[in-house]
Amino acid sequence: MDDLHKFFCPNKKCSQYGIRGAENIRVKDTYGPYNTRLLQCRTCKQRFSERRGTIFFDSRLPPDTVVSLVEHVVEGNGVRKTSRLVKVDPNTVSRYTKLAGEHAEQLHDELVAFSPEDRRGTVRRKMGLRQKKRKKLQRKQSD
Ligand SMILES: [Zn+2]
Repeated sequence: MDDLHKFFCPNKKCSQYGIRGAENIRVKDTYGPYNTRLLQCRTCKQRFSERRGTIFFDSRLPPDTVVSLVEHVVEGNGVRKTSRLVKVDPNTVSRYTKLAGEHAEQLHDELVAFSPEDRRGTVRRKMGLRQKKRKKLQRKQSD
């Protein structure tokens, strides 16, 4: 239950905007058939769903079905095959796949922005040199 450090205030005008673990988020209420938590920023009083910005936000499908749908797509199943296996309309599969892709892209951008420097850089450069040498050798052999 105490996973509130993952969330941040979504209000761009708030001084706590985008800051995780600032202890300004509290559970205001729950709503919907799956007891989704309604969160609130203590600083600016902005309320928002814990599902905001995720594939589950405003979803009419049960969370287990959404997870299953995405798992099938990730495993490489097509829209129609996933539709049959999860027992939803093919358009639903397409819509959720698009949503999952958008969410993954946002998450990727956020994680890459804060990721440590890639230590393999030097190795890659060395490999690049080896490839250049190999190509040079191949050119010499073909002459
Ligand atoms: Zn706020």
